[in-house]
Amino acid sequence: MTESFDFDLLVIGAGSGGVRTARVAASKGKRVAIAEVSDLGGTCVNVGCVPKKLFVYASQFPELFHASQGYGWQQQAHSFDWNILRDNKTAEISRLNGIYEKLLNTSGATIIQGRAKIEAPQRVSINGVVYSAEKILIATGGWPIIPDIPGKELAITSNEIFSLDKLPKTVVIVGGGYIAVEFAGILNGLGVETELIYRGNQVLKSFDKDCAVKVTQGMIDKGVNIKLNTNVTSISKRQHELAVCLDNGKTITTDMVLYATGRIANTEGLGLEHTAVELSSNKAIVVDNNYRTNEPSIYAIGDVIDRVQLTPVAIKQAMVLINHLYAENNTAVDYTNIPTAVFSQPELATVGLTEEQAKQQYNDILVYQSDFKPMFETLGQGSERTFIKMVVDKSTNRVLGCHMVGHHAAEIIQGIAIAIKAGATKSQFDDTIGIHPSTAEEFVTLK
Ligand code: FAD
Ligand code: NDP
Repeated sequence: MTESFDFDLLVIGAGSGGVRTARVAASKGKRVAIAEVSDLGGTCVNVGCVPKKLFVYASQFPELFHASQGYGWQQQAHSFDWNILRDNKTAEISRLNGIYEKLLNTSGATIIQGRAKIEAPQRVSINGVVYSAEKILIATGGWPIIPDIPGKELAITSNEIFSLDKLPKTVVIVGGGYIAVEFAGILNGLGVETELIYRGNQVLKSFDKDCAVKVTQGMIDKGVNIKLNTNVTSISKRQHELAVCLDNGKTITTDMVLYATGRIANTEGLGLEHTAVELSSNKAIVVDNNYRTNEPSIYAIGDVIDRVQLTPVAIKQAMVLINHLYAENNTAVDYTNIPTAVFSQPELATVGLTEEQAKQQYNDILVYQSDFKPMFETLGQGSERTFIKMVVDKSTNRVLGCHMVGHHAAEIIQGIAIAIKAGATKSQFDDTIGIHPSTAEEFVTLK
């Protein structure tokens, strides 16, 4: 006799990947439950992409106020109220939480609020109740990690930055990846004296080197103090300030220390010891191309597996998983040419191979680039420049990668990504008529 289960699918984690899987599976008539220990929407909605982008907008106003004068606008002096920004952001996030709840309910999925723990390969306990499920999906995302240094408990992470009681006067940010660079721009723009400390010799090291250098210069021009080749050795409390000791023997005092040194898969306390689920050396869940773990009834997607940690990737994985489970269609996610943006100031966006990667993979490449003052900055009297770069395979004329630093980079590269995904050649870019006057047209006039 086959066992009857409470649910066909029990999803653990209502973030980007979990919500999409639960909604689509339920709308296909599957009996689906989704467990969430915190707020619906996960990292992206609550402490990630969405509030971050709202803060980026907020932090750009001082430059816009300045630029507006060259365009004839005269204003009074401006002041910034952190409480208004934080509380308006929180209200907007609550609205989004409500939309997620409605979408899940409408699809027919059952939302179970609480921390889920796997008790057996087809059993999950939530709030003391054990549910059976034919299949379990782990979509528990990631969690920020702070290296083990004395005083690490005095530092905060991106989890806390969105709901501070008070904006500090000074901040030390540790790290050189997406979050460190984005928050350096945000806090600096909001008027916080910002110092970024990175252990290597170039921030954003996985990006095209020229672009990373342009972002660094742009940040310095806007007032961020960047210390490279430097490590923090300890943090201690000194009256109302924090003392940050560095490996060069110097000490900085600051109001706040923000660590942005990467995220680890969120698997602690999940009960994986009751299953055959395997973890990699960096604690991520090991899955096959269909997102199946070593335990046949358990699947995993999103930041909890060792792939690309981006919201649209988690959503794509959800759709591929649904196709595999319920449509007998085994397409796989294509991890090449994934466009991505760092919402730094200046903004960086990219798709495809960097010049360095292309040199390793192709015999002969051509590189086209342009560095110019965007039209907005002429009357606006700002210093920000725009840099664009295209990497082409010489033998086939195919465009291998496009990279951009400057205003609207994310918006422009998203469109270019379609062309690259479709295998467009440099000649096809050249044949395309530009939109004038725009920055995007530079991509079709590169010489
Ligand atoms: P998550 O969205 O993290 O969701 C996991 C959910 O599982 C959480 O809600 C958690 O509470 C829940 N959970 C965990 N354990 C349990 C349990 N035992 N029981 C019940 N529930 C549990 N990506 C972009 O594409 N663009 C951006 O601009 C961007 N900005 C970011 C900014 C920041 C500051 C951060 C931290 C991340 C950002 N990301 C961005 C990355 C993006 O947020 C993640 O890639 C995405 O949220 C991953 O989705 P997920 O479904 O794997 O996990
Ligand atoms: P990243 O992996 O982007 O960057 C981590 C940074 O911390 C790197 O510069 C790394 O240095 C440094 N680091 C790691 N360990 C240590 C250590 N022990 N001491 C000092 N420095 C250390 O992680 P983030 O935390 O910035 O973001 C996590 C992920 O979330 C990103 O990778 C991205 O996938 C996603 N995200 C996406 C965003 C977007 O799409 N715009 C925005 C924010 C996050 P090194 O380079 O030398 O290894």
